[in-house]
Amino acid sequence: MNLEEYKGVFVFAQQVDNKLSGIAFELLGKAKDLAKDLNTDVAAVLLGSGVKDLADELAAYGADRVIVVDDPELKDYRTEPYTHALSSVINEFKPEIMLVGATAIGRDLGPRVSARVATGLTADCTQLDIGDFPLVAKEGQEQKHNQLLMTRPAFGGNTIATIACPNNRPQMATVRPGVMQKIERIEGAKANVVEYNPGFTPNNKYVEILDVVKAVTDTVDIMDAKILVSGGRGLGGPENFKILEDLAEALGGEVSCSRAVVDSGWKPKDLQVGQTGKTVRPQVYFAIGISGAIQHVAGMEESDLIIAINKDETAPIFDVADYGLVGDLNKVVPKLTEMIKANKK
Ligand code: FAD
Repeated sequence: MNLEEYKGVFVFAQQVDNKLSGIAFELLGKAKDLAKDLNTDVAAVLLGSGVKDLADELAAYGADRVIVVDDPELKDYRTEPYTHALSSVINEFKPEIMLVGATAIGRDLGPRVSARVATGLTADCTQLDIGDFPLVAKEGQEQKHNQLLMTRPAFGGNTIATIACPNNRPQMATVRPGVMQKIERIEGAKANVVEYNPGFTPNNKYVEILDVVKAVTDTVDIMDAKILVSGGRGLGGPENFKILEDLAEALGGEVSCSRAVVDSGWKPKDLQVGQTGKTVRPQVYFAIGISGAIQHVAGMEESDLIIAINKDETAPIFDVADYGLVGDLNKVVPKLTEMIKANKK
């Protein structure tokens, strides 16, 4: 493998039902930073059927080029044709870096593609940088420059690992939604579209989709909320979430929770914040009766403002909080709600 041949930062532009997923824009935002450090450009890879019209939107969020594979075989996501399409794009255009969202689709697609093109993949990255690898070279060891340094929690979140892929290309990573930030939309951007046809041979091994049944959920997506009122085991039981709902309503926010709450069956998994839940970045995050375990903090530390309420003044949540209130949540939270309501009048 001649590594020098591989250029550019590529992003898998996930779409579902011909609507681009937010992760595509978030990855483009990060790709722009990486491309700047490498003095290269950013390409979005758009796979689907009848998706060409989406290319300008990708340009508006930072794609210098949009490589489109438009084929009826790609109408709905299926592992085999999507793997074939993305692997073919990689083999043809030879990117230095390939980023994929750690969504249900990306988690299926990314590892398949990396195996197909014989490179490595670091899953669920929380940070991506360009730098030297190894960070400090031992005597006699070659230090490679301009490597993608992929950082992710390891061993159940007890340590943070930085991983590189120095001998193969592309360097592949998946990143969870909500971790990276999109750039401000460039109005009127026009995409530089490159159409590519990898050829799909009719294949009776492809999965046939007979029907798509959408999950019905009555919970909101906490990743979209501007204000989150999050509760932990300190709530003591599901009925006590009423006081958080009242606070959230007074603030125009939504309720979320820790894993301990989900494991206890008090709230659905959709509302869980953290390493094995969702990564959120609201303007205000209330952590109420939450101790601040590293796995929880990993999912909310990028919030603009963190307010913690806990009866234990040594709780680690206070280390990441901008404001901390030591006290019994059963007394503090209703009082807070009352004050907010009174101030609104
Ligand atoms: P606790 O740690 O029990 O904390 C309860 C807090 O409430 C305490 O600090 C206590 O002082 C306070 N409290 C009690 N009563 C009151 C009161 N009346 N007033 C005020 N404060 C009170 N956790 C997540 O949240 N999200 C994840 O995605 C996640 N992923 C994980 C992945 C792995 C691989 C592992 C090993 C763990 C993961 N965890 C995750 C679990 C995590 O380690 C913690 O166990 C969990 O976050 C604890 O939840 P908690 O803070 O609600 O409960």
